[in-house]
Amino acid sequence: MAQFQWPNGRRAAVAFTFDVDGETVPYVMDRERAGERLSFMTRHQYGPNVGLPRILELFDLYEIPGTFFMPAFVAERHPDGVEAIVRGGHAIGHHGYMHESPMAMDADYEEEVLEKGIEVFSRIAGRRPIGYRSPAWELGARSPALLVKHGFAYDSSLMGDDVPYRVEAGGGDLIEMPVHWISGDFPQFGGLFGIQSPDVAFEIYSQEFDGLYETGGIWVMTMHPFLTGRPSRTDLLERLIQHVRERSRVWIASLDEIHAYCREAAVLPTLKTVTTDIPAPRWLRPPAEPRT
Ligand SMILES: [Zn+2]
Repeated sequence: MAQFQWPNGRRAAVAFTFDVDGETVPYVMDRERAGERLSFMTRHQYGPNVGLPRILELFDLYEIPGTFFMPAFVAERHPDGVEAIVRGGHAIGHHGYMHESPMAMDADYEEEVLEKGIEVFSRIAGRRPIGYRSPAWELGARSPALLVKHGFAYDSSLMGDDVPYRVEAGGGDLIEMPVHWISGDFPQFGGLFGIQSPDVAFEIYSQEFDGLYETGGIWVMTMHPFLTGRPSRTDLLERLIQHVRERSRVWIASLDEIHAYCREAAVLPTLKTVTTDIPAPRWLRPPAEPRT
């Protein structure tokens, strides 16, 4: 298989990405009582309040750019956090208004959420986001066309390859920056029970990176400041940065930067192109009649 052509003789690309979900999660989980559940709320506020500054400091130290997806409600609550992200030269992307899954909305609602987020980021970050990540990685079949319609240039919610690819939709396209659960902090640290040690997580992540380095892929690592922003895990992130940097031919970049490269005239036609069609099965056993 032909290898993906990365710039300047690089062999693979790495994007450290964060979903700054903040206060939205308690509202998604328990809309009625979120405002009363102080412990639950502070677990998630820890992300933008404590985890995010710690992560930004680490990235500053290593002089690497990150990509931060944020629900617009969190941007409104934490304009200083948005400002610090922009000031640090990082990319900022749309992640819903209240972390709404596209699978739980109708088309009008989904569009309203996109517009609301664009308005909020234009006001607070001073620019409209070009990247989108679907909350809960639940992009719907109609979502890519809506994203194209609203001027988004890339998405990072699908799992269809290990290199960037084009998704044709709505008379245009998105560049897809593929993710996977193996390269996320939620499976290791998100569960209340069965939390893994940073050593176990390091083994899983570094092996996945090593594999993608060998095949010339893009390693999109997805983390959450309320999880990876805790001290033991920020140390893990630092170990990962060092591990990645031991390879000389790695391009550590933001998804905005990787997107810009993929859009270059010489590169774009080399990308694999897919549509949003999901094939219907040729045969499905009819559901059993309910017993009376
Ligand atoms: Zn999220």
